[in-house]
Amino acid sequence: MAAVHDVVIIGSGPAGYTAALYTARANLKPVLIEGMQPGGQLTITSEVENYPGYPGGVLGPKMMEDFRTQAQRFGTDLKIGLVTEVDFSRRPFTVRSEFDTFQARAVIVCTGASARLLGLPKESELMRTGGGVSACATCDGAFFPDKELVVVGGGDSAMEEANFLTRYARKVTLIHRRDGFRASKIMLERVRKNRKIAFKVPSVVEEIRVGGDGKIRGLLLSNPESGKREEFPCQGLFVAIGHEPNSKVFEGMLARDEQGYVLVKNGTHTSVEGVFAAGDVCDKRYRQAVTAAGMGCMAAIDCERWLEAQGR
Ligand code: NAP
Repeated sequence: MAAVHDVVIIGSGPAGYTAALYTARANLKPVLIEGMQPGGQLTITSEVENYPGYPGGVLGPKMMEDFRTQAQRFGTDLKIGLVTEVDFSRRPFTVRSEFDTFQARAVIVCTGASARLLGLPKESELMRTGGGVSACATCDGAFFPDKELVVVGGGDSAMEEANFLTRYARKVTLIHRRDGFRASKIMLERVRKNRKIAFKVPSVVEEIRVGGDGKIRGLLLSNPESGKREEFPCQGLFVAIGHEPNSKVFEGMLARDEQGYVLVKNGTHTSVEGVFAAGDVCDKRYRQAVTAAGMGCMAAIDCERWLEAQGR
């Protein structure tokens, strides 16, 4: 019979590593399954300037390495592999990865979310290298003072990002693939009233133009109705076409909302007693490294108290 761990943590962004740090320091000997992209979304960003404690900023991958090292220092058992199946219908819970099967008294789900991208060549690379593509205005807007920027999307996120970016940018152009907007009226109105924002609809991005310095210098746009194409100069592209919580593997096991976000109540408790969730997999509102880390800490404390009440 395999050993039963006190806690298995699934996912390795700020939420997962923080949950590991706290449960390790509580002597729960956590096992953390790191997933496909150890470090999560921060490993595809460049400079992070809004995480408290790094006054000079820090590269996303470096910050995640620091989180990882700190979790390991207190005895977190890190495992590579992607979780392919879970059974939360009976205790101990079962978590199966590509390489191992784990049994656990408690589980903390920190699988994060993935920003949807347009799928254009060079898009992910420019995001990783600070070349001017981003999926987070709060994180990267300040790197574009007095620049001309493009936001792609027609939902509330796109409206929010466009508005936020006008704090720094000289001009923001909102590009959307159709005339109708999914965004709420109030958010759309706010954008329409902002004199720094122009609309270009319907329009789709066909290609990203990159300068000799490895940074974006423009876009090739096309009108899906007329087929007309045009070169559009800009220094930054913010993709705001939604996020997808990485929660498919919990389908049928944990209650989720209509978009797939894991539902939590009373802190970080999921619909299954003994299973907790933290970070972007259950938070579509804040989506920040610091809020994910905060939730990871909450989940660890909720988990520790729950295990104690079980007489562990
Ligand atoms: P969303 O509502 O799903 O909107 C995504 C937008 O991206 C849509 O306009 C969609 O176009 C477009 N899109 C999707 N795939 C595309 C592609 N491949 N190429 C070009 N365009 C593409 O996502 P969201 O804006 O991130 O919002 C998610 C949820 O969070 C919503 O419930 C929203 O209300 C909420 N939210 C609320 C606030 C707030 O209240 N402050 C802020 C942000 C988000 P189509 O419309 O043509 O499909």
